[in-house]
Amino acid sequence: MSKHYDLIAIGGGSGGLSVAERAARYGARCAVVESGRLGGTCVNVGCVPKKVMWYAAEIAHVLEMAPDYGFSVERGPLDWGELVRRREAYISGINTWYHSYLEDSDIDEIPGHARFVDAHTLEVEGKRYTADHIVIATGGRPAVPEVPGAELGITSDGFFALAEQPRRVAVVGAGYIAVEIAGVLNALGSEVSLYLRREHFLRSFDAMLREGLMEQMLEDGVSIFSRTQVAELRRSDEGITLICDQGSETHGLDAVIWAIGRSPNTDDLNLEAAGVQRAEDGTIPVDAFQNTNVEGIYAVGDIIGQAQLTPVAIAAARRLADRLFGGQPERHLSYDLIPTVVFSHPPIGTVGLTEGEARALHGAAVKVYQTRFTPMLHAFTERKVQTAMKLVTVGAKEKVVGCHILGPGADEMLQGFAVAIRMGATKRDLDDTIAIHPTSAEELVTMR
Ligand SMILES: Cc1cc2nc3c(=O)[nH]c(=O)nc-3n(C[C@H](O)[C@H](O)[C@H](O)COP(=O)(O)OP(=O)(O)OC[C@H]3O[C@@H](n4cnc5c(N)ncnc54)[C@H](O)[C@@H]3O)c2cc1C
Repeated sequence: MSKHYDLIAIGGGSGGLSVAERAARYGARCAVVESGRLGGTCVNVGCVPKKVMWYAAEIAHVLEMAPDYGFSVERGPLDWGELVRRREAYISGINTWYHSYLEDSDIDEIPGHARFVDAHTLEVEGKRYTADHIVIATGGRPAVPEVPGAELGITSDGFFALAEQPRRVAVVGAGYIAVEIAGVLNALGSEVSLYLRREHFLRSFDAMLREGLMEQMLEDGVSIFSRTQVAELRRSDEGITLICDQGSETHGLDAVIWAIGRSPNTDDLNLEAAGVQRAEDGTIPVDAFQNTNVEGIYAVGDIIGQAQLTPVAIAAARRLADRLFGGQPERHLSYDLIPTVVFSHPPIGTVGLTEGEARALHGAAVKVYQTRFTPMLHAFTERKVQTAMKLVTVGAKEKVVGCHILGPGADEMLQGFAVAIRMGATKRDLDDTIAIHPTSAEELVTMR
């Protein structure tokens, strides 16, 4: 006999946990199926361990400039193993908390891999479960290219599993994960090279951000190889050899990290049995309400291939539960104006249209305000870091449609500006706001 639920979420990551949790609060009988660790990518091999490593890297930079502020400290060696042990203990605490949270919320946890039997039935570890509503929140996994020797490289998952710090590392990829890993390893003392298939990294970001960050990374000692495709990896006595399509070779690498994108986890779901359509790239198309093409089956989070960020998965999932069980039939997520941060060194904070996008959409109605300066933190330090800011406005009222920041504190600066922009702030609204002095953020309300 199969067990019946109001809602089953496939995947216990940001999306699956959030939809079940919100639905359960409305009194729905819910279950979450998880084949790995609760918390999914974000908690186990994504945002959380990444941010811990970013903090470690920031501390390394602070130690570096401590003598500039009169401290007689030397930057000693990093005990990588200890850092990883503490990080994993922290994550394991979050995993444990999730188990008890599900129990306390009266949500059943079903460990194992789910496959569809039909549109309302799943099979997990030989047992069947039925539900009125099934939410696919299976996320993705790191992609590995099909080149000879690819298995000698690791992915972001492998990066978090490293028991020792690699001395010489190649990071392959141009997205935020590649940039973040390269920055962390460089700050922690590894010799890092970054391989980009095209000219720039972070191609969908405003040009000011990617150019400014690239300058800083080069300044900080990262070797960046643009327009370079990795053709092969080979193992030798000295380590890994990376061979590029133009024939150039890099020898003696301790690690090669593939950060070339992520593939959706839809292969083993037996979607055909339920009649759920997949796009060619494996993602699941949904409408504005997270509905798939099959009634009663929904998809949220990375699996839909849009704005692959934890808060987006959570927001879409909660709104879906509000709609299904909370009596809010029109509730859905708007995928516009999603703020995001790249945890580089310094970080990037960005929301809304890039200057290029705005000009393509609004032409001469666009006015841009831009500034670049050395933040006070670095006024007299040996390692200089620049801050760059841009406001993109449209129309006579100069409605702010984009805000882009590169610099120390950009990660924490952006959230409030994202609220203002969502509320329709104009340049005048920013100008009328009293600055907080002395900060970098004040430049955003004093730009001329
Ligand atoms: C290195 C890295 C850094 C990141 N940093 C950030 C960041 O700083 N900020 C941010 O917002 N986002 C970040 N992200 C993205 C973020 O992790 C994802 O957007 C988020 O985890 C998506 O949530 P999800 O629920 O869609 O999928 P996931 O969190 O991936 O959860 C899916 C879960 O489904 C399970 N599963 C898959 N198939 C099945 C099945 N058939 N049966 C049962 N279970 C299954 C998986 O085991 C997994 O636990 C990062 C990602 C990575 C890889």
